[in-house]
Amino acid sequence: MSNQAEKLVEINHLKKYFHVNKGLLHAVDDVSFYINKGETLGLVGESGCGKSTTGRTIIRLLEADSGEVIFHGENVLAFNQSQMHTFRQHVQMVFQDPYSSLNPRLSVFDLIAEPLTNIEEYQKDRKKLDARVRDLMDVVGLSRRLINAYPHELDGGRRQRVGIARALSVRPEFIVLDEPVSALDVCIQAQIINLLKRLQQDMGLTYLFISHDLSVVKHISSRIGVMYLGKIVELSDYKTIFANPTHPYTQALLSAIPIPKVGIERHQIILSGDVPSPVNLPGGCRFAGRCPYAQERCKTEDPELRDIGDHHYVACHLAEKK
Ligand code: SF4
Repeated sequence: MSNQAEKLVEINHLKKYFHVNKGLLHAVDDVSFYINKGETLGLVGESGCGKSTTGRTIIRLLEADSGEVIFHGENVLAFNQSQMHTFRQHVQMVFQDPYSSLNPRLSVFDLIAEPLTNIEEYQKDRKKLDARVRDLMDVVGLSRRLINAYPHELDGGRRQRVGIARALSVRPEFIVLDEPVSALDVCIQAQIINLLKRLQQDMGLTYLFISHDLSVVKHISSRIGVMYLGKIVELSDYKTIFANPTHPYTQALLSAIPIPKVGIERHQIILSGDVPSPVNLPGGCRFAGRCPYAQERCKTEDPELRDIGDHHYVACHLAEKK
């Protein structure tokens, strides 16, 4: 998979398994994609499809079982402790639930200052630290009067702004956003998405935006990858995903999004059949038990993710026929 833009992150054949009572759970099973510098790649799929595990494995909050994560030409998965220390200043994560990810005993000032306390220039200069925290509050649209407030005194949107300010504090290049707006109501979601877009433009940031909701991902992503049971089943630019969804699972996800125009209704595809256990995966296509188009070969042959034209990747035996 390649194109002309500069790649910042390249994930090759990433695998992450968990040992559970019944065997090996295939959380991330041979996932490959890249993210260009300055772009947002949206990663969507149902809960448990492996999208959050993929994000966490890329930045080594979880250790991969195999594969590569290439960042600035180097394999992050082979980094030693000191290389990881430097890497963590280039890469940050914003979590879904800012309430549980923020220490309730720390004030807004302390929460935003915390990542900076490892950096020498701020360790030595309290005034500089104060100024940087205030500056970050301005950048994310947090009123300075909240500097001594605690997380329980803030609403969800403001808590997520604190989470974003923390992530920005070390001037990262790449941020993994793991369901960053899922816990917020719709109006606040739009504000946070707009903030993330503005920050990306102003700072040249690169995002991996993880969400279960295609309608949210659409507003921020230049390309979208759809995951199902540990694998990417479709990947393309967002216009193609919305105008020409080709994998039956993407088609079903899209059909569930209401059209915001009076009098226009979308035919919703209701999937029947059970999601197979990620521990006892069936041979062949993992979607076969729910797919309305499944054929005999789908039960035995696992479809490869392949380019069906113009960097539109689909893992379905019938992709070219749709
Ligand atoms: Fe459906 Fe077969 Fe395509 Fe899988 S490979 S999505 S079962 S048609």
